[in-house]
Parts: sequence; C-alpha cells; structure tokens
Amino acid sequence: MREDVKQLLALQEIDQDVLRLKAELIRIPQLQEAAKERLANDTQALSDAKAAYQQNEVEIKKVEIDVGTRKDTITRLNNQQFETKKNEEYTKLGEEVIRYKGLVDELETKELELMEVADDLRLKISEAEAALAKTQGFVDEEIAELEDRATERKSELAKQEEQRVTAASVIEEDLMETYTRLFDKREGLAVVNVTSERSCTSCHVQVTPATYALAQSGSAISHCDNCGAILFS
Ligand SMILES: [Zn+2]
Repeated sequence: MREDVKQLLALQEIDQDVLRLKAELIRIPQLQEAAKERLANDTQALSDAKAAYQQNEVEIKKVEIDVGTRKDTITRLNNQQFETKKNEEYTKLGEEVIRYKGLVDELETKELELMEVADDLRLKISEAEAALAKTQGFVDEEIAELEDRATERKSELAKQEEQRVTAASVIEEDLMETYTRLFDKREGLAVVNVTSERSCTSCHVQVTPATYALAQSGSAISHCDNCGAILFS
C-alpha cells in the first residue's frame, strides 16, 4: 500500500472514531431525557390515582350531607306527627317518615359502596407510589451511568482529536482536501478497499480494470470511477 494512502487510512480510522463518539455524545442527553420521561409517566399515574381518591372522598361527603338532611327531615316529621291531632295527617306523616327512612337506607348503601371504592383507590395510590419509587431508582441509576459514559466518551474524544493533529500533519495539503471532501460525502468511507471482484467497498460499484490495476500497483492514487473514493487493494 502506498505510504500516503496508509497515512490517510490511519487518519480515517481516527475520524470514524471521532464521528462515532460525537454521535454518541449527542445521543446520551436524549437517552437521559427519555429516562426522565418514564418518570413523568409514573408521576402522572400517581397524581391521577390521588385525584380519583379525592373525587371519591367528595362523593362520600356529599352522600353524608344528604343522609344528614334526610335524618333532619325525619326528626321534623316525627315531631309533626307527635303534635298532630288529626288521624289522617298522622298516617300521612308516618308514610313520609317511612319514605325518608328508605331514602336514608339507599344513601347509606351508596356510602358503603363508595367506601369500598375508597379502599381500592387507596391501594392504587400505594401501588402507584411503589411503581414510582422503583422507576425513580432505575432512572437515577440509568442517568448516572449515562453521565459516566458521557465523561468517558469526552475523554476518548479529546484523545482522538489530539492524535488526529499528529496523523493529519504528515498528509499533503491537496490530498487532505480531497480526503476531507470524500469523508463528508461518503459518510466516513473515503479510503476503502477494492475487492478482487473490482468492487469499491464505499459505493459497491465495480471499477474499471484500469482503476483496479492502478489501485494494485500504487503508482498513483486510484479513485473509484463511480464515487471517487480513494482505493487500495
Ligand atoms: Zn465507489
């Protein structure tokens, strides 16, 4: 392999690493956000469970007030019944008392049902609290791990960028320009192997026998006829 192609290949390895590290450093905060998002879902579930419980408590209070009002009415009717001297009115008031007692029974049954619902909802709250605590643990751990990974990658990146300066310093200016343009255009595959079937491993198109022969001899730099990649064999 030509010395300059060898040097380019070494540079390309560093540049590919730099590219990979930079992509990972962009991805890490996104992963941290996604982890926090999972926490938001559990927080919402807990707040929903608490809201449902509160709503049910309001319902219970309402029923209790209704029971109280009905009971007051019964007391009032009982007093009226006690005071009346008319038989017909006495009977009528008695029937009203029975009707109101029926209403109180219905309301008290409803209250018992709501209290059972409250038990279920209380259970849901503790389940949601447990789920949130569990997720919080995972999320904290994951965020810390990602933080460590980011620190590692940053230090790797700094090292590679330092090595890049040395690797790039030995490459001639024109060749460097060509390489840089190709590296960007070919997404990191500027200097590639051409296979024995004459296939460029950057674009996978077959090169001409002359291009292939040039890549083999190394008498000059050989470029892929299709994508322009620098070839070696
Ligand atoms: Zn090609």
